Order: sequence, then structure tokens, then C-alpha cells
Amino acid sequence: MANALSLLKNVFGYPAFRGAQSEIIEHVAAGGDALVLMPTGGGKSLCFQIPALMREGCAVVVSPLIALMQDQVAALREAGVNAAFLNSSLDAQEALQIERDFVGGRFDLLYVAPERLVTARFLDLMRRATPALFAIDEAHCVSQWGHDFRPEYIQLSILHEQFPQVPRIALTATADEITRAEILSRLQLESARVFISSFDRPNIRYAIAEKNNARDQLLAFISNEHAGEAGIVYCLSRRKVDETAEWLNTQGVTALPYHAGLDQATRAKHQSRFVNTDGVVMVATIAFGMGIDKPDVRFVAHLDLPKSIEAYYQETGRAGRDGSPADAWMTYGLNDVVQQRRMIDESEADDSFKRVSLRKLDALVGLAETAGCRRVRLLAYFGEDSTTCGNCDNCITPPRVWDGSEAAQKALSCVYRTDQRFGAGHLIDVLRGNETERVSRFGHAQIKTFGSGAAIGDKQWRAIFRQLVALGYLEADSHGALKLTDAARGVLKGEVAVSFREEAAKPRKRERTGKRAAFINSFENPAAGALLDALRNWRAETAREHNVPAYVVFHDSTLEAIAASQPQSLDALGNISGIGAKKLERYGQALLELTANAD
Ligand code: ADP
Ligand code: ZN
Repeated sequence: MANALSLLKNVFGYPAFRGAQSEIIEHVAAGGDALVLMPTGGGKSLCFQIPALMREGCAVVVSPLIALMQDQVAALREAGVNAAFLNSSLDAQEALQIERDFVGGRFDLLYVAPERLVTARFLDLMRRATPALFAIDEAHCVSQWGHDFRPEYIQLSILHEQFPQVPRIALTATADEITRAEILSRLQLESARVFISSFDRPNIRYAIAEKNNARDQLLAFISNEHAGEAGIVYCLSRRKVDETAEWLNTQGVTALPYHAGLDQATRAKHQSRFVNTDGVVMVATIAFGMGIDKPDVRFVAHLDLPKSIEAYYQETGRAGRDGSPADAWMTYGLNDVVQQRRMIDESEADDSFKRVSLRKLDALVGLAETAGCRRVRLLAYFGEDSTTCGNCDNCITPPRVWDGSEAAQKALSCVYRTDQRFGAGHLIDVLRGNETERVSRFGHAQIKTFGSGAAIGDKQWRAIFRQLVALGYLEADSHGALKLTDAARGVLKGEVAVSFREEAAKPRKRERTGKRAAFINSFENPAAGALLDALRNWRAETAREHNVPAYVVFHDSTLEAIAASQPQSLDALGNISGIGAKKLERYGQALLELTANAD
């Protein structure tokens, strides 16, 4: 059996395994089943790609998305591996040829969509071929709790039933308990070894800001911290996606919309522009994302609240897969909670599903409201202990926490005296003593709390109501009317103290004008910057010729390493991380010439 480390070096050009990779690879290569939980960017692919090369026969990889298969196969072929995919993007003739080559043993890896894998036709092909192993990528798709549920995944237990001797490895970046248990049982992986990596993504900086004017906040964030860089902006509705993308363009940010309401051709065009060109911002619903392998996404912004911490973690996880600094940024307000609750209430799901959904939403709201370290909170949700990170908004600018017991009493009593029928806007009018038409219509100027909160501003009252909901003292119904919960009684009686967080007054401005600029500035020798530009141009041309995304040719970090060390020989070049034997053979000469010309 070929040696794992030498395959890593020769084929992929990396000097060492990361984390549990080596252990996982040995286990699967020796015929063991595995469930691998590893964060995005952690290096899951190698965990089945290397065993595929070590074991006899062809590994069959189940992957939910065509784009994902194509990218992985393109990258493998660039590295000189015999890989192919079988999906609906091929015509009948091409598919037939792939099937023949598969049975003829000409591939080391074959990527297949789940619905095709479980057909009688494909199962029959597999009986005639020699499956080396089954890899089930994005295995959380089997879970109905996940946001990427794919019914075809449930049928994948058939693999175990029909090919019990073939090892299986399931991989996912989603790791809450419910999903994990569901993967194990639905795929009949109960006796598989479970490999859990730390879910921390240390290069991602988490920040959650109070929503004031979300658009302006977004624009300030992009122009102050990510001008000219690639990022994703998530919105809940298609309309908001369209409007936000259009508006960003008028503000000088290159932005494209992506949602399920756009036709297939437009979506494909936008995705390919996002992946293949530098510095495009994709404004999207959650329809966009799974299978986006682009490693140099520098930020993920949320204008609306996701459904759960899992969803938040997975969406933000699309930033910074290359390991360089990246931002996860979100604006959030009371309406977001109301909106998400309404969606849960009005969904067709049964009560137990709704209950779980509400619990998940509450956990996310807790993350948004915490005055402590975001990362500690996030990791704790996935069952991981950690210490304060120094790389989230709360660590960098700790929010002031104040005793809000009295304000909370006023707010709750105002809710009570107005019969628990009104939303925050009206309640604030009553508290501040505003004589609006509504206030007089309902006679609310006569109640005891009218005007009792005049000393506190509008914006701060909004934050108070939001936090009372988040803390579980108030409950918003699907129309936004606030009602007292049982827990509110203790506060009203003065038995329970309540503290609120106060937003940092001004968002900090960071001295960063993009990673690339920083890289170039970091060189005493301006020739390194010029070389990096030349390497990027060369890469863009090569990628066009080969019809693959630029990062499939080389990652930024590999080009940066070449620019920094300016290797003079093929040997020296081959030592750079990301340059395997095949790429050295194919591109080595061109790279050396570029480097020589830069002097
Ligand atoms: P995941 O599927 O877990 O999100 P990938 O398998 O796409 O992550 O890996 C993320 C990136 O890290 C890829 O560009 C991959 O080539 C790189 N990578 C993986 N393992 C290693 C390693 N041992 N050394 C260096 N780079 C690695
Ligand atoms: Zn922190």
C-alpha cells in the first residue's frame, strides 16, 4: 500500500498532515468506517482522497452538488489524479464513457450525485467495478434538522446493506448532537469510529452589531475593511437580495444577486463570476453557499438572522477557508427575532419540529446578545470548552453591562398595563410619554407607566425590549405583540435583577485595506509585489485556458510563498506548499521564468 505521507507530498505538494488527517487516513485505508466532523477548511477532502489512492479500486464519492464535484475533480486532475464525475451536466454519450471507464478500473475517484448512486443501474455498475471505499461528503444532508436536508441521502444506507465489506467515511462540518446522532443512525454507521476536530476557526473574526440602518452599516463595513475583496452577504428574502445587490452597485461595490428565483443560467453565470474573478460580492439567500469551495472569501455578512447557530456557523464558515484573516459580521435587531419566530409559527412543520426550531433560534439569539466572548459561546454550543479568543467584537471592545432592573420593570409593567397586545414601537411611545394618535385611541396616556421612561432614549428602549425577549422575559407573537412570560414575574416583583449590554458607541475602524495590499506592503523589496502581480496574471490566464477557477491552479498562499522566496530551481520550487509533482512538472518552468524576469 502506498504511503500516506508520500502521497501527500508528491501528489498534493503539502509537507505535513493537519490535525487528525493522518489518523483518519490510516483508519479508512485499513478498511475502517469513519464519521469525520471537521470545520470548513479543515481539510476533509484529503481524508478520503488519500485512502482512495492507497486502496485498490475506485473510491465512490457522494456529493450533493454539481459545482462541488466539478471543483474537486478539476483540482484532482490538476494534481494528476484520475478522477471523474457522473452527474446531469454530462450528455448520455459522455456518461456512458465514464461508466465504462469506471467498470474498467481507470479511475481512482468517481464523484456521483446521491440520486444516481442509488439507482439499480449504478448499483449494478458498482458490483462489476471494485469500489475502494465510499465517501459521503456533506453528510449532514441526511439530517432533517439540518438546513441542507436532501431526501436522497436517506437512501444511502443501501451502500452498507449491499456492499458491507467496503469501508465508508462520512464527512461534515455540522456537528451538533442531534445531527451527529442522526447521521450515525440513518447511514447505519453506529460502529464507525468518530473523529471530532476542534470546530474553532481561529482566522475568522466574529462580530454582531445592533441593527440601526443595516445598509449603511454594511457599506461602512465593506468599504472600511474589505474594499475590493470577495465576500458573501446573506439576506432572508429574494427581494431584499435584489435590492441590496443593486444598491451596493450604485455605491461602487461590485455585487451580484443569487437566489432560487433567478433562472438557472443567471445563477450559474453569477456563481462563476464570483468564483473566478477577484473581488466580487455575492448577495444571496441561503440557496447560495453549499459547495462554494472558493478559498479566498474574505467576509460573510448577515443582514438577517439565520435560523440557528448551526446555520450561522456553516454560513460564516465559508469565509477564510485558506486560513488567512476573514470576518463574520452580522446586524441584528428585535424584528429579526420576530420575523424568524413568525416563520417557525407559520411553517407546516409539526409541533416537535417547531419546538426544536425555537430552541435553536433561542440559542442563536443568546449568541447575538452575549456580552462575553462570541467564540467561547459558539464552541460551547458544539460541546467544546475554550477560553476567550481576543478575536471577536466582544473581546476587542468589551460592551458595558449595566443594571437594568428598574428599566426592565417599567418595560414589563407597560406590557402588562397595555394588555399584552402591542409591539415595541407603541410600548416605547407609552414609556416615553409620546402623545401619539394610537396612545390617545387606546387611552394609554392614563396608565401608570405613561411617561415613566422619558429619561431613556428611543434607541435604548429598543435595545431593552430586544434583550428582554432574548433573555426570555418577553415573548413576541407572530405579529410582533409582546407578552409576559412566567419568568417576568420575578423581575416585576423585584426578586430578579436584570443586566443589559450596551453597544459600543462607535464601530471600530480597522487599519486594513485588504490582504493583498498588506502583503505587498510587507515587502521591503517592491519587486516581490510586482512578481506577485505577474504570478496572478499568469494564473488567471492558465485558469482560463484550462477552464478551471484560478485557485484550482494555485492558492493565493502558494503564489505568495513563491513571490516571497523567489526560488531559483525546480527543487526549491517543489518545496513550496501546494506544489506537487504534477504541478511542478506542468508549471515549474513557467514559474521559474516569471521569477527570473522579476529580478
Ligand atoms: P474542507 O472540505 O474540510 O472544508 P478542504 O478539504 O477543501 O476542506 O481543505 C481546505 C484547504 O486546505 C484546501 O485548499 C486543501 O488543499 C488545504 N489542505 C488540506 N489539508 C492540508 C494539509 N495537510 N496541508 C496543507 N494544506 C491542506
Ligand atoms: Zn472572543
